Amino acid sequence: MVEIVAVVVAAGRGIRAGGGVPKQFRTIGGEPMLRRALAMLVGHPEVGAIQPVIHPDDVERFRAIACDDTVLPPVFGGATRQASVRAGLEALKARKPDIVLIHDAARPFASPALITRAIETATQSGAAVPGLRVNDTVKSVDADGTVTETLDRNTLRLIQTPQAFAFQPLLDAHARAAAQGREDFTDDAGLAEWAGLRVTVFEGEGGNVKITNPEDFARAEAERFGALGDVRIGTGIDVHAFGPGDHVRLGGLQIPHTQALTGHSDADVVLHALVDAILGALADGDIGSHFPPSDPKWKGAASDQFLKFAIERVAARGGRIAHLDVTIVCEAPKIGPHRDAIREKIAELAGLPLSRVAVKATTSEQLGFTGRREGILAHATATVRLPWE
Ligand code: MG
Repeated sequence: MVEIVAVVVAAGRGIRAGGGVPKQFRTIGGEPMLRRALAMLVGHPEVGAIQPVIHPDDVERFRAIACDDTVLPPVFGGATRQASVRAGLEALKARKPDIVLIHDAARPFASPALITRAIETATQSGAAVPGLRVNDTVKSVDADGTVTETLDRNTLRLIQTPQAFAFQPLLDAHARAAAQGREDFTDDAGLAEWAGLRVTVFEGEGGNVKITNPEDFARAEAERFGALGDVRIGTGIDVHAFGPGDHVRLGGLQIPHTQALTGHSDADVVLHALVDAILGALADGDIGSHFPPSDPKWKGAASDQFLKFAIERVAARGGRIAHLDVTIVCEAPKIGPHRDAIREKIAELAGLPLSRVAVKATTSEQLGFTGRREGILAHATATVRLPWE
């Protein structure tokens, strides 16, 4: 039985990718990149164990994402990628697998077929790395940017991971490089070549991209998970009591009635319910937390501005409102004659096409406070699409 173990290198500090955490812990499609890379290897039938190499500062972050008992306890990496791989290999000394795969956490989309090819090729040749043909013309330049040579692209390959090796020769090569102070290899194939091992290139995968910059995250996100794939649904409920007056405000419209709705602002239950629904979708507090009734600034305020605020919060997150739906519950005034106008007004205030706004009305069959004509209740749902983060 051939034993195959994968070392996953995830000890980098790179925060260039944004999000305030090392890039391997940043999410793509709602999953931390490192968890995707681990899960991809966990799911491969020939890979018996996975040895993660992490930074000491990431112990807690790692604990939160470790996903399977074939993932061994992590070991700590060193100052360079090469030192981190060596730490992973040394942790496997006692286990002595036949084949070791070295994979970067920054390539979370390698396919099972690519891993199979890596194992097969390394089983035959001892050292195997995935490579892509080069479609662009490649030139060497000097320090001034003057071309010194146009390379024959047919002989060139862009090298990826996972790279697969017979375990012991790779461990020995790493030990020798370290002993001689060579810490500058950017991949294990380079180190193996230096050590005199014969390295074979097999066909890589275009989709096995290396995720480094914020643009890489955005592109991978859009290509694989669809832009704004994080669909959120928020709900909001609001109630206002009737008091003396001759009109109510519903959905930004003034509607004649024998009473008014009482409240600190203009008591527009429809807009208030919508604002809470939108804030709910964003998990961003509620109308009272952003516009405290204790603040005299909002006394008699038109609720349009609350809705505009909530919509701006969506835009600030890079999101869009897909749909707003509201139900008004009261015996009077009759909503039917005003329903389309309310719908149009909400669409206008929200900057949405009419097809993305719904307004419905019902009575409560004379039951409860709405049935006793003591006030109006509005219930709203907001469907908001956000980028995954
Ligand atoms: Mg209210």
